[in-house]
Amino acid sequence: MDKYEIIKMIGEGAFGKVFLAKGKVDNHQSVIKEINLTKMPVKEKEASQKEVILLAKMKHPNIVTFYSSLQEKNKLYIVMEYCGGGDLMRRINMQRGVLFDEDQILAWFVQISLGLKHIHDRKVLHRDIKAQNIFLSNNGMVAKLGDFGIARMLNNTMELARTCVGTPYYLSPEICENRPYNNKTYVCKYMFAWMLSSTI
Ligand code: ADP
Ligand code: MG
Repeated sequence: MDKYEIIKMIGEGAFGKVFLAKGKVDNHQSVIKEINLTKMPVKEKEASQKEVILLAKMKHPNIVTFYSSLQEKNKLYIVMEYCGGGDLMRRINMQRGVLFDEDQILAWFVQISLGLKHIHDRKVLHRDIKAQNIFLSNNGMVAKLGDFGIARMLNNTMELARTCVGTPYYLSPEICENRPYNNKTYVCKYMFAWMLSSTI
């Protein structure tokens, strides 16, 4: 991690912190997600390591780009692209009730759908699509899917998963009812229904 200079903390999650950093040699800005593995139950520890493997597999303009990862003294570091526009939840709150243009919502929706298709084509389920895990470019025009913290891999695209995970507000009926699900469960319909309800 001594290749990077920390600029500031930009986020804090259940198991660690997220920093904006820049490369000491090339001055290139990036985000470092620091995950503290010490107090983590074994299952979560495995999940964090999986986040790295899954994110590293993805290469798409609508998915946060993975740069590198490193484990040092019981801490896991994920270095990735910095999305200067922050997360979509922050962007929604910045509006203070002022409605977004329908075109803007559709543009974000299409981009997230393209990112999601890329993930699903690689037989990976994200399982936590929500405004806090969608990141925006500096000018806010490009939307990227990030935070693969609880993503999982399916053996084949038709396989149904059974583990009930996600964030309560954004769960689909089949997950709430503990029924088997596949990639179709993770469309971002709830988030966009909510966003549309604040425009119309
Ligand atoms: P957690 O597992 O804690 O939810 P996230 O990867 O979602 O971790 O990061 C937490 C917060 O940090 C995000 O909601 C966002 O505000 C900020 N953040 C994370 N990654 C980036 C990034 N690549 N660019 C800009 N902000 C980010
Ligand atoms: Mg998150």
